[in-house]
Amino acid sequence: MHNPFDFPPELIEMSKLAEDDCIEEFSACEKTARIRSEQVLAAFIRNRVSDCALHGSSGYGYGDIGRDIIDRVFADSFGMPDAIVRHNFVSGTHAISTALFGVLKPNDIIVSVTGKPYDTLEEVIGIRNNGNGSLRDYGVEYRQLDLNESGEIDYKNLKDAVKEASVVYFQRSRGYSLRPATCVSEIEKASEIVRKVNPDAKIVVDNCYGEFVEDREPTCADLIIGSLIKNPGGGIAETGGYIAGSPELIEQCATRLTFAGGGRELGCTLNQNRNMLLGFFLAPETVCSALKTAIFAQKLFTLMGFKTFPQKGEVRSDIITAIGLGDAKLLTAFCRGIQSGSPVDSFATPEAWEMPGYDSKVIMAAGAFTMGASIELSADAPLREPYAVWVQGGLTYNTGRLGILKAATEVINIKSSQ
Ligand SMILES: *Cc1c(COP(=O)(O)O)cnc(C)c1O
Repeated sequence: MHNPFDFPPELIEMSKLAEDDCIEEFSACEKTARIRSEQVLAAFIRNRVSDCALHGSSGYGYGDIGRDIIDRVFADSFGMPDAIVRHNFVSGTHAISTALFGVLKPNDIIVSVTGKPYDTLEEVIGIRNNGNGSLRDYGVEYRQLDLNESGEIDYKNLKDAVKEASVVYFQRSRGYSLRPATCVSEIEKASEIVRKVNPDAKIVVDNCYGEFVEDREPTCADLIIGSLIKNPGGGIAETGGYIAGSPELIEQCATRLTFAGGGRELGCTLNQNRNMLLGFFLAPETVCSALKTAIFAQKLFTLMGFKTFPQKGEVRSDIITAIGLGDAKLLTAFCRGIQSGSPVDSFATPEAWEMPGYDSKVIMAAGAFTMGASIELSADAPLREPYAVWVQGGLTYNTGRLGILKAATEVINIKSSQ
């Protein structure tokens, strides 16, 4: 039998069953990719992307045509009025931090209505390690409305929670938790309630890992924010982030990114424009491959007897599959397998380390063309209970599938030796 990777025969059998079970969901992903690709191509055409937009600038970057066109292409494709897309955002956290510092003032209140935000945002907001220049240090109060028992927004208490809010904050993806992703229709439903009780509140969505997963973005928000080494970079953008929203709020964010009076008028693009445009052009397809990889991983590890997330019937709104491996050894083995099936650094062994911004050791496996890119096949996990691993990415389904099978092989080997 054709088996160049030498997978155990019982794994090959299971992978066939898993893949048979994927057909319907794969076809739904392809349908979404078709709709989203149409929007993206239409935005390229409407905004007259030309060869000169592909070349960057140096120095101050005044009048960089490519940079301005990229802003419009992102905004237009996402159905948002405006956007700022820059390689100068060093990560998703930086883009979110810039946006929050841009729109919040002392004595304002930010209310997260999807529970505790993503780990790195805790320090930005001041939930942890205060005195570090957090929002709280500047007099911004933080409040939190936890998700209800089924992982949905707590609609019953939403009205009261957001009455005094200046910013109502949503996190679309599950992050390092086992809660379901908050899908676009939920954000829409909750936003409608927020607008009624507090029309002045700005609705801000951490859109990381969510872009192009559904047929639309949460355009009901005032700002949506994400990272270019995740979904909208399409695996091609080398760094950067975006903030999309109204021109007025985007200006405030740009002022925070650069300086008062400078705003979005400057910031050279070096040689990043072509990769940003090409990556964004490919992104609906790339996300489709990542989703297929995630779905396959979920089906396979369910067959192997593990608890997997999203659970049956859950609407996917991010590219993540979480797998409850239940012990540190299996977790490390899984990551080793993902790493060994990567196109780059396949020979490396991932180890847990104290990453800046996180409060427990984190293990990360990614053999990526862009360092740390999690739109490429990657697995990561904080080394703590419940020893679950979060898998995402896969630039192509066929290679993503092999990476998952490598991880499964390592897990099977450890289990049979236990
Ligand atoms: C990745 C991610 C972020 C930002 O993380 P960076 O590593 O700084 O890009 C924020 N929120 C969520 C839910 C994420 O998945």
